[in-house]
Amino acid sequence: TEESFVVGLIGEGITASLTPPMHEREADRQGLRYVYRPVDLTRLGRPGSDVGDLLRWGRDLGFNAFNVTHPCKQLVLAELDEVSEDAARLGAVNTVLIRDGKLIGHNTDFSGFSGALAAGLPDAALGSVVQLGVGGAGAAVAYALLKAGTAELTLLDLDPDRAAERAAALAQLFPDRRVTSGTPADLPAVLPGADGLVHATPVGMHSHPGLAVDLDLLDPSQWVADVVYRPVDTELIIGARAKGCRVLDGGRMAVGQAVDAFELITGIRPDAARMLDHFHEL
Ligand code: NAD
Repeated sequence: TEESFVVGLIGEGITASLTPPMHEREADRQGLRYVYRPVDLTRLGRPGSDVGDLLRWGRDLGFNAFNVTHPCKQLVLAELDEVSEDAARLGAVNTVLIRDGKLIGHNTDFSGFSGALAAGLPDAALGSVVQLGVGGAGAAVAYALLKAGTAELTLLDLDPDRAAERAAALAQLFPDRRVTSGTPADLPAVLPGADGLVHATPVGMHSHPGLAVDLDLLDPSQWVADVVYRPVDTELIIGARAKGCRVLDGGRMAVGQAVDAFELITGIRPDAARMLDHFHEL
């Protein structure tokens, strides 16, 4: 019998997510039978803490896998039978495979950013990086940077305690690196001399327009990565590009997490460039 895939996305307000069409289109191109349904907690009137029940129903109903997103990425950990080493170290899961009745957690946010960085900013120096924003996306990106070899990582957040906690947790996971923390007020002191800047706050989204970084602080020799992908061309990306910086937009990470999840779910490495093109059409 030909194999088929039923996949879902569990999270709040995700009905319009671009992840389902990205997976379905690529599966069509690969000749797979693949259905990917949003399971929107907001529409269902359910709390994130129901993620375990939803996953077990999905398992019993024959689903192959789920992606999970806000607010379930940490909540889901307690519901799983197995967790990949990276997801456990990072403390967040965005992909759950269902294999032989077991729920197995992975994280493709960090690996998707790693792949995006390698493809979108090849040969970029990663030795010292300043990162603004250490929420959900920021935690995955910081982990990816350290895995990719960043030796000096400076984490800045409006919430200094959050930045300090994340820095301490990462320093413990990567004891041979220097992970420090601060607030955006430290940017003028820490950005000159860094190889690159990662922006992982919501500033620049359609709903939060603006810039969290003074563009005058950027040097054309530096690269700039944004995780915001609605719009793909944020004020930061446009401004940094105009200054001559190499840039990585948030669309790359959004596609990267889907590319890696698709491969985990199907065992088939998708065509990442084709998925990126499709993302830009959506
Ligand atoms: P979050 O709320 O978990 O974290 C945001 C963090 O940014 C918070 O710690 C907050 O204190 C901090 N912050 C806000 N404004 C700041 C400022 N001006 N300076 C410094 N720090 C500031 O949010 P999140 O889930 O991490 O999402 C952040 C952005 O990343 C959103 O735009 C989201 O759409 C995007 N995102 C992209 C991807 C992707 O695949 N490209 C994945 C997840 C999230």
